Amino acid sequence: MKSKNPYSICTWDDGNSCKDCNIEGSLICKTDKKFRKKFVFHHLTFRATAFLGLFLIGAFMQNWVLITIYAIGVFLNFAVLEPRLLCSHCPFYAEKGFFLRCNTLYGMPKIWRYRPGPITKPEMILQLISGGFVDFFPIASFIYGIFVFYNSHATAVELISMIGFTFILLVMMIQLHQTIKGEVCSKCPNFSCAMNKVPKSIRDAYIKRNPIMKEAWEKSGYKIG
Ligand code: SF4
Ligand code: SF4
Repeated sequence: MKSKNPYSICTWDDGNSCKDCNIEGSLICKTDKKFRKKFVFHHLTFRATAFLGLFLIGAFMQNWVLITIYAIGVFLNFAVLEPRLLCSHCPFYAEKGFFLRCNTLYGMPKIWRYRPGPITKPEMILQLISGGFVDFFPIASFIYGIFVFYNSHATAVELISMIGFTFILLVMMIQLHQTIKGEVCSKCPNFSCAMNKVPKSIRDAYIKRNPIMKEAWEKSGYKIG
């Protein structure tokens, strides 16, 4: 078992330690297929709508800069930056193997090493910039698109389509935010995330169950209550 779980993280053990765990059910600390399907569906429909709207703007303007910038940003954020800045501190990243098997970025290659300690301030700032870009760039571009369509005398159908895309994207952003806030942030074992809302007592209990994490968190100055 240790060969698949080199840091002895309880998230990746065979489940025996969960039997006497007093925080069982308080965290999404094991892989959960049902939850993953729901999250991935919300996430992919949001990105697909973003790309479709950016494609519409590009086709109308005959200029593909916005969609190109976004495609590069999405690739860099999800394949390189977020895995390094945030995921490499997550217990789900500690499993041995080249592919990530967590409940959200399932299947992403793990190109970084696991870091059992908490995220640092510079990492947090960079993550907020990178994550903020991939989440808010489409809506800002869509609003810009409406402005361009209106001022370039687009047809009524084109203008209504652009406004419709903007509205749909906004609703999706709110839905995704509600799902993440309501179902992920208060139960996610990646305590390094700026949005993590797991109560300190549960956070401490999880860290105490995982000696390698405990040592790294205490070394960084974290006080377990
Ligand atoms: S915190 Fe660890 S031991 Fe407790 S339920 Fe979650 S995975 Fe199991
Ligand atoms: S931080 Fe989220 S996306 Fe990254 S490994 Fe952990 S659960 Fe997966």
